[in-house]
Amino acid sequence: MRIAVAKEIEVCERRVALIPDTVARLVKKGLEVWVESGAGERAFFTDADYEAAGATVITDPHQLWSEADILLKVSPPQEREDGSWEIDLLKPGAILIGFLNPLGNPQLAQHLAERQVTALSMEMIPRTTRAQSMDALSSQASIAGYKAALIAAAALPKYFPMLTTAAGTIAPAKVFIMGAGVAGLQAIATARRLGAVVEAFDIRPAVKEEVQSLGARFVEIKLDEETATAGGYAKEISEASKQKTQEVVTSHVKNADVVITTAQVPGKKAPLLVTEDMVSQMKPGAVIVDLAAEQGGNCACTAPGKDIVHNGVTIIGPMNLPSSLPVHASQLYAKNLTSLMQLLIKDGQIQVDFADDIVDAACITHAGEIRNSRVQDALAAEKSAIS
Ligand code: NAD
Repeated sequence: MRIAVAKEIEVCERRVALIPDTVARLVKKGLEVWVESGAGERAFFTDADYEAAGATVITDPHQLWSEADILLKVSPPQEREDGSWEIDLLKPGAILIGFLNPLGNPQLAQHLAERQVTALSMEMIPRTTRAQSMDALSSQASIAGYKAALIAAAALPKYFPMLTTAAGTIAPAKVFIMGAGVAGLQAIATARRLGAVVEAFDIRPAVKEEVQSLGARFVEIKLDEETATAGGYAKEISEASKQKTQEVVTSHVKNADVVITTAQVPGKKAPLLVTEDMVSQMKPGAVIVDLAAEQGGNCACTAPGKDIVHNGVTIIGPMNLPSSLPVHASQLYAKNLTSLMQLLIKDGQIQVDFADDIVDAACITHAGEIRNSRVQDALAAEKSAIS
């Protein structure tokens, strides 16, 4: 049974699916691991490192894709420079695991089903205690939150910490974090470590204690509706609740030196939290880092992948932040993948067991079918929008 690690061809993707250390663990278990030449280069893992770990380095990507039993990736498969589609190189029955963005790009899922590929999407791993070691959304979101705070600190024309110096006293920066999920909590922790005074807001009141335990103040807004699903995720809130939250958060945004927005609702466009009017009320020199830039942005002025200056306020819309820390992002992702593979490989053989709730939730295509109803719905919606 052969596990293959493809080189990411997406220009801004520096991560790699397995690092040499995890390869060595798989090889020790008797599994054969192939790694495409140069796959780890942008995360500073050389072909020689992989060979030393027991992998076979393959220079021909066509061979790697077509002879893999399990193909591991970070970003979704793409069209190669020679015009071939990576998916079309896979043999029928092969397993593909990666961030496949099935709700954002259901056509890819259809293509995978047509190719008889068994695809497991890391975005669909359930957020349960048993699945924690496979939760790549969390491992990567934490990196994004950390980096967002650093980007904000670097862009702010002020210190983050309070300083008492012979030349006078410096007041600490005021940081306001909107959305206190995995990324938001790590942004709070990082901004606190840098010495800022931090406030945070989330529509899920359950996060209050976590926010406070990190030394930040929780901005509480009592809404007259349920804001979280049974699984702990945020729900899309009503217009009345949106208006109420906006009224409260406006003064916090206005007073902040830095606003870091991380709010998302799974499967939906990111909620708009910071309007253009709110940006106009901010101090010149203030910085907004919008982590939801790829999902449409939490700020009305965000341009994905760009830095915009609006009335002296810099709005940064970073893309794929986990990729900017490729060493640790790859290390954590590799651990998430190997934990998932433990559910798929029994006694050296592949066994896709849909009685396992994690495999069942993560597997989006199998035996020519799209298995996940949300992906089927997304595909139907996309088709009806085109026709
Ligand atoms: P996410 O990236 O989907 O969203 C980020 C945050 O934005 C969430 O905290 C959400 O409540 C918030 N948000 C959404 N709409 C908002 C709005 N209008 N205003 C303000 N905030 C808004 O979330 P995530 O970080 O992936 O995780 C969210 C939750 O999932 C966790 O807090 C937890 O309950 C659950 N989770 C569980 C596990 C586990 O048990 N293994 C692991 C990770 C996450």
